Amino acid sequence: MPTQVLAILNQPSADAPPHDAGAAPLAFIDPATPLLSALDLGATRGDGIFESISVGNSMPQALEHHLRRFVHSAATLELPTPDVDVWRSAIHAAIDELGPAQEASVKTVLTRGVEGDGRPTGWVYASHSGDYSRLRVDGVRVVTLDRGYRHDVEQTSPWLLAGAKTLSYAVNRSVLREAKRRGADDVIFVSSDGFVLEGPTSSVIYRVGDTVFTPGTGLGILDGTTQSSVFRYAESLGLATGFQQITAPELGKADAAWLVSSLRLAAPIRELDGAAFPMDAALTAGINAYLRALTD
Ligand code: PLP
Repeated sequence: MPTQVLAILNQPSADAPPHDAGAAPLAFIDPATPLLSALDLGATRGDGIFESISVGNSMPQALEHHLRRFVHSAATLELPTPDVDVWRSAIHAAIDELGPAQEASVKTVLTRGVEGDGRPTGWVYASHSGDYSRLRVDGVRVVTLDRGYRHDVEQTSPWLLAGAKTLSYAVNRSVLREAKRRGADDVIFVSSDGFVLEGPTSSVIYRVGDTVFTPGTGLGILDGTTQSSVFRYAESLGLATGFQQITAPELGKADAAWLVSSLRLAAPIRELDGAAFPMDAALTAGINAYLRALTD
């Protein structure tokens, strides 16, 4: 069985012509094959969008939520609308081709394509995942970093594309290097007016008493699929859930907090800006067991 699989979509959007009229909707190719044009706007401008979807029991998890977010990101960038039926089948086909795996993931990418061509580029890449099991128990040391935008950037400046999952992730990588310089493993972005936002690849969740919170919506942050699943789990335990706009010092007073995302799942925060942070080992284990077992 392969450890990685690559499927290229012939017509990622019904709004644009196919790359090869009459060809099959998708073609599997060797992931090592050089493929992308040097003129593809995804490569030259980061002009495109993506999703990373975890695979549990050979099923893409939270698939419909991921597809909704993919379409939302495309609309924000004014890209041709992804044909969700084509993408859904390609995702399932790539998972079938990959075969059984301990933990796996699928990445969907849609770029604006070659400059001037008018046809978007789309592919689905499935692979075995790294081992995050220690992080899910031991936790992460987190620093807060200013993102430089106010919390209402999504409303005031939609051209900044806040809240879309774009390919322009150079900043999301650079903050991890800054975290390392500060002796930490990960980051929580804070708005320029002081509100907790999200991690560079994760949503923030925290517990205060019997309520599990996440920062409010409309803050120019991603609509997290894992956050939504964690809320469902918390509610099944009888915990309350809610959205709350908070500052970093307020987060520091929570009873426990996590960075949650599709692949790493729930990483408990064990240190925040250099101060030890309480961890809730039982709830962390419950959340991760629930997320690993998800089939939809
Ligand atoms: N926020 C950002 C910036 C992300 O990149 C991600 C995931 O990669 C998330 C939040 C969490 O989203 P999800 O739980 O859907 O993986």
